[in-house]
Amino acid sequence: MALVNGTEIFDKARAGKYAVGAFNTNNLEWTRAILGAAQETKTPILIQTSMGAAKYMGGYELCLHLVQDTIKSMGITVPVVMHLDHGNYEAAKECIEVGYNSVMFDGHDLPFEENLEKTKEIVKLAHAKGISVEAEVGSIGGTEDGITGDGELASVEEAETLAATGVDYLACGIGNIHGVYPDDWTGLNFDRLQEIAAAVKTPLVLHGGSGIPKEQIVKAVSMGISKVNVNTECQLAFAKATREYIEGGHDQDVDAKGYDPRKLLAPGTEAIKDCVKERIAWFNTPSI
Ligand SMILES: [Zn+2]
Repeated sequence: MALVNGTEIFDKARAGKYAVGAFNTNNLEWTRAILGAAQETKTPILIQTSMGAAKYMGGYELCLHLVQDTIKSMGITVPVVMHLDHGNYEAAKECIEVGYNSVMFDGHDLPFEENLEKTKEIVKLAHAKGISVEAEVGSIGGTEDGITGDGELASVEEAETLAATGVDYLACGIGNIHGVYPDDWTGLNFDRLQEIAAAVKTPLVLHGGSGIPKEQIVKAVSMGISKVNVNTECQLAFAKATREYIEGGHDQDVDAKGYDPRKLLAPGTEAIKDCVKERIAWFNTPSI
C-alpha cells in the first residue's frame, strides 16, 4: 500500500466511531518516526505539512518526495495520506498540482461567503484528481505557524453549508486551540460537537489535539470526530528527549562520538515515535 486519499479512510472511521491521527512532519527524522509508528501499529495515518514546514523543508514537491521515498525505503505497507495542513487558497492549489493526496483549505479568516466559494473551487479542482479536501468552519484558537484564530465556536448552520460543498472532512472549532493549552482553558464544547455531528454526515476533524486530556479526546472521538491533528505534543516530546541527551553530557562523550547527529537526534526521534503510538491508541484506530 502506498499513498492513498483520505476519503475512504475517514468514511470508515466515522462509521466505526474511531479516529485516524494526522501528524505534522518537519524533517527526515519526523517523517521516519511518524511512518515507523504507523507501520508498527499497523494503522493508517496522515502525515501533514503546514505551509511553514513546507517552506522550511524546501517546498511541497520536496515534502511529497521525501514521504514517498521514505515509504519505499522503510517498506511501509499501511495506507498513508499526504495532507496539507491549514493551506491558504494558493497553497491548496499548489498541493493539488504537485500531487498531495489531501489538502486542507483553511478559509476561516475570510468572510463566510468567500470561504464557501473558495472551498467549492478547491473541491472541484481536487476531486477531479481524486484528492480529498478538508475545510474549516469557526476558528481554532491559538497560533500555529503564523496563523492565529480566536477559538470561536463553529456555527451549525455554517457547518451544514460547508459540508454541502462535498468536502471530505470538516474542521470545526469547539473550544480547541493550537499550541499549549492555557491553565484556565475550559475544555471542549461537547454540546456544540453533538449538534454539528447530528447535522452533518461529513467526518469531523479536531485540531489542536496536543494537550487535550485523554478523556476529552476519547469522548470527542466517540461523538463523531474522525481525524485528530497532533503537532505540538510531538514537538515537546522531541525537545525534552534532546534536552535530556545534552544535559546528560552525551553529546560531549568524544569516545562514543555522542556529537554525531545520528546519535544526537536518535532519542528525540524515538520520543516522537512513542508519542505518535500513544495517540494512535487513544484514537482507537484499529489495526489493518
Ligand atoms: Zn490546525
